[in-house]
Amino acid sequence: MEITRRPRIADPDFEASPGAPPVRLRDFDPLEYQRLVVNPFLAVFGLVVVVRVGAWLAETRYPALAMLAVVPLAFLPLLIQYHCLDCGQTGSYVHRDRHACPAVGARWNHGSRSRARFPSGWAQLVVWGWILGSLGLLLAVHAWN
Ligand SMILES: [Zn+2]
Repeated sequence: MEITRRPRIADPDFEASPGAPPVRLRDFDPLEYQRLVVNPFLAVFGLVVVVRVGAWLAETRYPALAMLAVVPLAFLPLLIQYHCLDCGQTGSYVHRDRHACPAVGARWNHGSRSRARFPSGWAQLVVWGWILGSLGLLLAVHAWN
């Protein structure tokens, strides 16, 4: 049995004309349209608590328990927060890609990106890392002398 193909007429509402490039919908990436302020201070507080607990465990009867203080370090990135300048919502920086408030959607619809006037969350986090790392180094040098 032989199957013959019948030529089909392209439906212009649903299919592109033959030879035309495929029609692609724009991907919605909320990260490109958000205006967020990154706040790492809760994670810094968590780091201080973990270090103090580790130091306290090292001075107990079983100093090997201080190794348990390493486990919470894996969860410290969850304590880095973002604050949306459009709707005021605060959440975990790790889950910032889930935040799409109406202002973000409107910016996406108009095709205007927020990055032209506002640094990205990642850039803010890198700047915070440099500032807090420098302060930590200064405190370590001051404590050593
Ligand atoms: Zn928002």
